[in-house]
Amino acid sequence: MAKGDANHTPAMRQFHRFKKQHPDCVLFFRMGDFYEMFHDDAKLAHKVLGVTLTQRTKGIPMAGVPYHAVENYLRRMIQAGYRVAVCDQVEDPAQAKGVVKRDVTRVITPGTLTDESLLDEGRENPLAAVMFHADDRASLAWVELSTGSFSLTTLHADELTDELARVAPSELLYCETADGQTPQRVQRLADATGCALAARPAWQFRQDEAVQMLCKQFRVAELAGFGLQADDPALGAASAAVHYLFETQKTAAGHDQARLAHLQPPRRFCRSDHLVIDQTTLRSLEVAQTIRSAGTEGSLLGVLQDCKTAMGKRTLRQWLFYPLCDRQAIETRQRVVAALVEDGRFVRDLRDTLNDVQDIERIMGRLAVGRAAPRDLVALGRSAKQAQRLADLLADRPAVHSYHHRIKKAAATLQDFAQQIDAACIESPPNHLREGGLIKDGYDRQLDEYRHLQRDSHSWLARYQKQLIDQTGVTSLKIGYNKVFGYYIGLTAANKNRAPDDWTRKQTLKNAERFITPQLKEFEGNVLSAEHRAVSREQVLFARLCDTAQQYLQELRTFARVVAEMDVLACFARRAARYHYVQPTMVDEPVLHIEAGRHPVLDELLGDQFVPNDVALGSKVQSPEPEVAQSDSAGATLDIGPGTSDSQATLALITGPNMSGKSTYIRQTALIVLLAHTGSFVPAAQATIGLCDRIFTRVGASDELHAGRSTFMVEMTETANICHHVTPASLVILDEIGRGTSTLDGLSLAWAITEFLAHKRCRTLFATHYHELTGLSEQHENVANLNVTVREWGDQIVFLHRIVPGATDRSYGIHVAKIAGLPDAVVQRATKLLGQLEVSHQAPTGARPLADSPANTGQLPLFTEYLPHPAINELRHMDLNSLTPLQAFDLLRKLREHIDNNSG
Ligand code: ADP
Repeated sequence: MAKGDANHTPAMRQFHRFKKQHPDCVLFFRMGDFYEMFHDDAKLAHKVLGVTLTQRTKGIPMAGVPYHAVENYLRRMIQAGYRVAVCDQVEDPAQAKGVVKRDVTRVITPGTLTDESLLDEGRENPLAAVMFHADDRASLAWVELSTGSFSLTTLHADELTDELARVAPSELLYCETADGQTPQRVQRLADATGCALAARPAWQFRQDEAVQMLCKQFRVAELAGFGLQADDPALGAASAAVHYLFETQKTAAGHDQARLAHLQPPRRFCRSDHLVIDQTTLRSLEVAQTIRSAGTEGSLLGVLQDCKTAMGKRTLRQWLFYPLCDRQAIETRQRVVAALVEDGRFVRDLRDTLNDVQDIERIMGRLAVGRAAPRDLVALGRSAKQAQRLADLLADRPAVHSYHHRIKKAAATLQDFAQQIDAACIESPPNHLREGGLIKDGYDRQLDEYRHLQRDSHSWLARYQKQLIDQTGVTSLKIGYNKVFGYYIGLTAANKNRAPDDWTRKQTLKNAERFITPQLKEFEGNVLSAEHRAVSREQVLFARLCDTAQQYLQELRTFARVVAEMDVLACFARRAARYHYVQPTMVDEPVLHIEAGRHPVLDELLGDQFVPNDVALGSKVQSPEPEVAQSDSAGATLDIGPGTSDSQATLALITGPNMSGKSTYIRQTALIVLLAHTGSFVPAAQATIGLCDRIFTRVGASDELHAGRSTFMVEMTETANICHHVTPASLVILDEIGRGTSTLDGLSLAWAITEFLAHKRCRTLFATHYHELTGLSEQHENVANLNVTVREWGDQIVFLHRIVPGATDRSYGIHVAKIAGLPDAVVQRATKLLGQLEVSHQAPTGARPLADSPANTGQLPLFTEYLPHPAINELRHMDLNSLTPLQAFDLLRKLREHIDNNSG
């Protein structure tokens, strides 16, 4: 067959037709027991899935995957960022006249997944749509198909990356351009967040179109009821997202159009309702993944995650990404945690109840797009059964009154639903309904009849055979079955004349004659179709039950929310009890007082070895004692400032050797503040935390890899962002500034930035190597010095990891280098050199502020004292950690030459 012909067999014609309809998808084309891919799709499958590349007929590349394992291959395709259209056989091949009818039954894209096997239960999988406006603003809409949640917002375009980092969409839709190219700003968003991109037609983003489509979807005349004006600029993005959902879900399970009944009306997201945590901060505080491995393990989420249900797991993640800013809302959560901490039995019973609650939200999602499995329905019924138990458990407990109130009514209704499912379905149904097996006997009369017929066929045949023997007197008469001719009455050739007249001859063999009777014919029809009819009947009943389930959408949703939140609160309580966390006192004033604070991750890792530390920023407000008993691992109270506990310091400079615990200290403080805003208790003996609007972080650039930008550029961009957006309600964490440039540049920048932040009076912790900065506390009443204690034993040093007031002027770099294994000779030589260099270098105490000071004469005493001897510069820039012994010797020799040359 010529190449052209091979492409034009009826099946291949079908393939090309569907491929044309879904040009941006890899087409999985069902043929018998395989899904086949052809042409470029086959080559791609070979590359991505590692499946063998063969040829269908001459010249057509083909690759296939077995149909029963298709989910696994789909997942891998999606994870690799591709879209897949699944083309199924939509009629029984045995019944097909000519080529079997096929249709695309699913279009799977990274942002429109609903199947359990394709999703991570612990995180959302949103689809987002972005559109840019003329005035530097942009709108974002994001929708979670698997649960139906739907949000939109309009913000400044430069806030987009940070918000998208929190939303973490799997796929981002944008308005297509005339030249078909992806706009740079869209590409940058995708690069920053790692999501797939899809261009969508411009009309789908149009305002008038958007209002119409959203009103239709939510069956309202106007959107005002959802708090949205018809001219809300974000509606275009919202409508584009919904259009996309329809397009990808349109043919699921035979529905012409998925109704997406579970989709909730879009909720306007207001940035200031939550603590703003930008992408840098999420990353550097390792909130959901560690910098090193990019995995959850070792992150804040990783150590906290102890939820029983998938819904709880996702909610915990949400709460960490979107902490609250409203004191009352935080305190409401705290009260529940406190009640749970007090009552271990309550927590156990609660978690027991949650044990039997499946992922209701996602099952509802699958129901809404017509992709629920029999197992889903049973899981939903079983979960619904727990609603009453949960309601009973929450009753008469003041702390959880609001939750009880929410679930009480829903529970009674759900009881009904659970009973319906219970009455209809067996306990452990199969994954699919191809062979039936979901509906209980006795539930449906018609189904029972079909089943009866199937099961009874043997005894009927035996009875009928006996009746015929009696009638004919031929004892050797047998009723048999063969695939081609069906049921027959068999007589040996010798007996063939004893067949009654009303028997019809069916087949003549050498030694036998085969007959059929009208009764046997009817029986055959019944038996053969009984199985088929039973399965069809089950499918009808299943669809009915799915519809029934959808009628309980509201109650199931309420139940799901209560389950999810109680699950997270129980998780907080268990952690608080186990690791001696305390309830932080939240106040409106911008203060931060933590006694014996610990790092939530290191604390768990190091146990007793972890040294707790205090923080005191802002005047301490007199607040009521926290309601819950404090941890017994108390540390000494830290007084910052000149001997007063009523310190005015808002900015603390932390100096101390490498590896002494500066980063740990400032990060743990930020994590405690973040945790406190989620309603969780915190790892400390006592904490008073003023509400924050934002947490900013700037940590060592060497910890991160940024493609295409120098570390110094990244550092300065992040610092600029802080300076522009910081308010007196913000918390700022700085870990070294100016390392990526020359010492003088770096010091000047660090100095100016410190002054700027001190002036802003935002709570700031700044860990720095520049001991010179410690002089700032003399010029600014709100700047204090802290350092990490070091104990010296002869020439040995021990890091105590304890933060104490005051400045230090030693960095112990050489000691750290020694610990790191630098040869003794190098260490000794460096120690000697340091001694010599220190003689020529005075710490610039009493340095004046750089700006806005009448006393600033333009002369900078700091820098005139800081004579940049080339050897000092060299020494300062030495990266001791990466030197080989040989390089170290070379460097020392060079230093010596410098000194000799300069002094000579
Ligand atoms: P620095 O920022 O001063 O270089 P780090 O904060 O990175 O130091 O801490 C270095 C190591 O010291 C940590 O990995 C940890 O093992 C240990 N460490 C830090 N703080 C403490 C502490 N408070 N208690 C016990 N060990 C600590």
